[in-house]
Amino acid sequence: MMDLRLAKRAIRLAKRHRTSPPIFTMSDELNFLPSLTGSFAKPAAENPTVEMVEAAYRHHGLHWRYINTEVGPENLGAAVAGARAMNWAGFNCSLPNKVEVIQHIDGLGESASVIGAVNCVVRRGDQLIGENTDGKGFLKSLEEIVDPAGKRIVMFGAGGAARAIGVEVALAGATHITIVNRSEERGNELVALLNDKTSAEAVFEKWDGDYSVGEGVDVVINATSIGLYPDVDARLALNLESLTADMVVADVIPNPPRTNLIKDAEARGCKVLDGLGMLVNQGITGIEYWTGVTVDGGVMRARLEELFGA
Ligand code: NDP
Repeated sequence: MMDLRLAKRAIRLAKRHRTSPPIFTMSDELNFLPSLTGSFAKPAAENPTVEMVEAAYRHHGLHWRYINTEVGPENLGAAVAGARAMNWAGFNCSLPNKVEVIQHIDGLGESASVIGAVNCVVRRGDQLIGENTDGKGFLKSLEEIVDPAGKRIVMFGAGGAARAIGVEVALAGATHITIVNRSEERGNELVALLNDKTSAEAVFEKWDGDYSVGEGVDVVINATSIGLYPDVDARLALNLESLTADMVVADVIPNPPRTNLIKDAEARGCKVLDGLGMLVNQGITGIEYWTGVTVDGGVMRARLEELFGA
């Protein structure tokens, strides 16, 4: 048993040195068992989610931790079993586990089952349920700039992020979505999904050489991994002359937030949306699922901007 005097001293020291994250809060200062959440992805070192989530836990005095782990599909079953055994409240899945994780959990929420991918797993009773907050996170930040209802959209990519974003912007009323992708198979699959499950009209264009965005397009989205750290100098094969000042250009890449696409689009006079907004908004929803608390997105964005010098 820890001596009470020592415990109180430890609390004072933790407060004085702003131990990160706090081991103690006012209400449970002698509870040494935080609630656990985390992430399974590979690679994991470039993913700043842990800093963003723990900034929110600290700010709201939540006795919670977020553990960033490098886990690929080969160990995912064991990792999920471990999370169950340790009574984790939930976890994020990122590349390349978003589809793979489905076989290891007990059920899917509505958006995850339409999208066919899970980025956030939530413990409900003794079940682990997969949700998808990527598309909702993107939509929320897009809506701060433009309402997608009635809009024409061009999206590069047809992977997990593109599926989530495509479904959500279509459900929010976008009328026309062009999917531009390198692999025809993945591109056509996403187009079929959008035409089947939403009222948007979706078409596929194979990405072959520099793509020119057509007139009348309102929103251009990069949902590929081009530009993600460490490949920060990469550029989309895109005819920049085809970007016009009335377009919104959005990039999903959170690290670094100022990608070449964002810089190029700004130089063309477009309104731009970086990947941090999506990351913060999907984080708010995930934390709400796990803890029941709606956290302050400003605190999370500030921590990310501090890290990236944005
Ligand atoms: P996937 O692996 O599922 O999909 C990757 C997509 O990028 C595919 O369409 C792939 O095309 C395309 N792609 C990759 N490299 C190239 C290239 N050199 N040229 C052309 N196309 C390329 O990944 P996700 O969809 O899960 O993630 C994509 C990005 O989204 C990641 O960088 C991730 O960091 C980011 N993301 C950001 C979030 C945020 O909150 N800001 C949330 C979720 C994801 P093909 O099909 O031809 O292989």
